[in-house]
This record gives sequence, C-alpha cells and structure tokens, in this order.
Amino acid sequence: MNDWVCDDLSIAAAAAEKGLCDHCLGRLFGKSGTGMTNDLRGRIIRGSLNNNGIPSSEPDNCTLCDNIFDVLGRFAEAAAESILEIDSDNFLIGTRVDPEISAKEEALWKELGAENAEPLKAELNREIGKLALPLIGRAVEFKNPQVVACVDTRFADVTLDIAPIFIYGRYNKLSREIPQTIWPCRLCKGKGCGRCNGIGKMYETSVQEIIGDVAVKMSEGEEHFMHGMGREDIDALMLGTGRPFVLEISGPRKRDIDLKELERTANLSELAKFNELRFTTRDSVKQVKLAEPTKVYRVK
Ligand SMILES: [Zn+2]
Ligand SMILES: [Zn+2]
Repeated sequence: MNDWVCDDLSIAAAAAEKGLCDHCLGRLFGKSGTGMTNDLRGRIIRGSLNNNGIPSSEPDNCTLCDNIFDVLGRFAEAAAESILEIDSDNFLIGTRVDPEISAKEEALWKELGAENAEPLKAELNREIGKLALPLIGRAVEFKNPQVVACVDTRFADVTLDIAPIFIYGRYNKLSREIPQTIWPCRLCKGKGCGRCNGIGKMYETSVQEIIGDVAVKMSEGEEHFMHGMGREDIDALMLGTGRPFVLEISGPRKRDIDLKELERTANLSELAKFNELRFTTRDSVKQVKLAEPTKVYRVK
C-alpha cells in the first residue's frame, strides 16, 4: 500500500509550489492508484520531492481548498444529524462544492497537465461518508440509497433526498361517485375555484386519496401517487378480486409502516376496500400498468 510512487515529479513539483495541502496535492494523482487516501498520497509525494532536493512542506493555508479538510467532522455530524431524523436502512452522502473552488481546480489540472486528478467533490463524498458511517450506524448504499444527504460545503447545510416507498395492493371500488385517482378541476387545474367549491378537484375523494392520505400520514410523507392499469370509468364498480395498483409515497420519514394498520384504516371507508397490501419496488409500477386484468367486473 505504501509502495505507491509518484511517476511525474515535475507535475508534483509545480503543484507543490502552488501552496496545496497534502489532500489537494495527493488528489492531483488520485486516479493513479487505489487503496490509499489522498492525504497519505500527498505526504508520499512531498517525501519524494524532498528526497530529490525539492524542499516542500504543507502550507498553513491551502490555496485551493482553503483547508476544507479541517472541518470534515462538522460536515459529517451535520449529515448524520439530518439522516438520523428519518427512518432508513441505508444512506449515501453527497456534497455540493463551491463552484469557484471547482473552477480553480479544473484550471489547475489544465495548467499542470494532471491527467489522473480526482475531483475535490469525490474526495469529500468519500471522506465525509467515512466519518459519518459510525455516527449513523446504517449501511452505505451507492446504487439505490433510501436517503441521500447532500452537504453544501459552503454553509454546512444539509438537504435530504428521500426515496419514495411503493406499496402494492388490490382495491375494490364500491361507489359510482368516485374516480380511481385524484381528478383535478378542469377549470382551475387544482387551485380551487367556484366550480369545484374551492377544493380544486372534480370529485370530493378518490380511491387514491382514501388510501393515500392515510399512508402519507402514517409515513410522514409528502405526496401520494397511484399507479394502476389505465383509467376506469367513474360509474364502473370494481368488484371481485379487485384491481391491482401501486401506491407511491414521496418523501417518507418513516418507511416501515404497518400495512395491516393502513389497510384497516383505509377500509373504514364505505367507498373503496383494499387488500393484499405489501411493499414493492419502483419496477412494479411498470408491471401493474401493463398487467392484463384477470377478473374485472364492470357493473353498469
Ligand atoms: Zn487543500
Ligand atoms: Zn376549480
């Protein structure tokens, strides 16, 4: 691991003269070998320079990153604090870097001809993630994280991006007065007007709202969306085994809600009934949209 050697001391010498910290110096060669932090790589480079009669030491103030690595702990704490406020099995941390620093960085790569440089953002993501991991105690997930905390490194602000939850189920529609999904008012498009009595919709409620409103409340989510097979006529009932649907809840602060309780509460409605609720993935939205109805009773 420590046998990495810098293969271009002329770039290293020119870079060191720019007054870079060890992180920023090492990062200029960040893609030329793995298994080592840029910090350590920077120290190795400086050692080689010194051994070759080019004295170099870490400056008090890095001219590129302004010593951003000194406050990584604060970024990690802020990210952990935000993530711990919500339920998730896993997480990912991302950063927003000051665009001025990014521009300076790219100009430096060009000037030095550094072809194996790693962006500051990549190092920050990784190093903040490492520090936050023990504070959060959940798994890091790169592909489908349930929550992404984006740290704005200018202000140590954190914004959360929470992945939606998807619930599969079947419904029966027992009323000829309600649509399957929310139907915004044609006139005001949802703002509320005289025609819709200010509710912004053509109908008081819908199959979607009967279950969606309960699910949003239970999951402390933001909005609900119902995915089903096409549109059905309002005056058609849906009896028999019911119609499959996928309910999507955006921004849920609680993911592992009790689906039995959701079913029980939604089924207090006289207008629609729900059954077979289970958690599913985004992929099933496509399946349910394409699905052929197995047994559809249209009673007119
Ligand atoms: Zn630096
Ligand atoms: Zn209206």
